[in-house]
Amino acid sequence: MSDTAIPVIDGWFSTGDAPALIGSSCRACGTVCFPRETGFCRNPACDAMEFDDVELSRRGTVWSYTDARYRPPAPYIPSTDPYVPFALAAVELAEGIVVLGQVADGYGVDDLHVGSEVELVIETLYTDDRGDRTIWRWKPVTTEGASR
Ligand SMILES: [Zn+2]
Repeated sequence: MSDTAIPVIDGWFSTGDAPALIGSSCRACGTVCFPRETGFCRNPACDAMEFDDVELSRRGTVWSYTDARYRPPAPYIPSTDPYVPFALAAVELAEGIVVLGQVADGYGVDDLHVGSEVELVIETLYTDDRGDRTIWRWKPVTTEGASR
């Protein structure tokens, strides 16, 4: 583990105007992993055990996607009643890894296709007595480049 100036939430992502997922980069071979690796390098040809935190690409392309039409098993949070379906996207980043995530609020599978561009956003999953619980999501990048 290295000392880093990246403000990290629960070890998963940075916040601010340009949030990014936090991965690890092997000091010996440069292999990038997400979630962060703290044990052994995942490159089978490398036996290194030291990593640096790195911010991953904020944009990627949709590798695959699906609609979560059925409530996931417990301890699924937030467990809303009635259950609200959401979309999931597997997104390929320039680092060569695919990261699964929910699709941003207000978007669904109709907004996605394989190869389309998405951008990382941090949104509130739910709020409890400890405050807002945030999660990373993939937001489709519209051709107009505008948010909605
Ligand atoms: Zn390595």
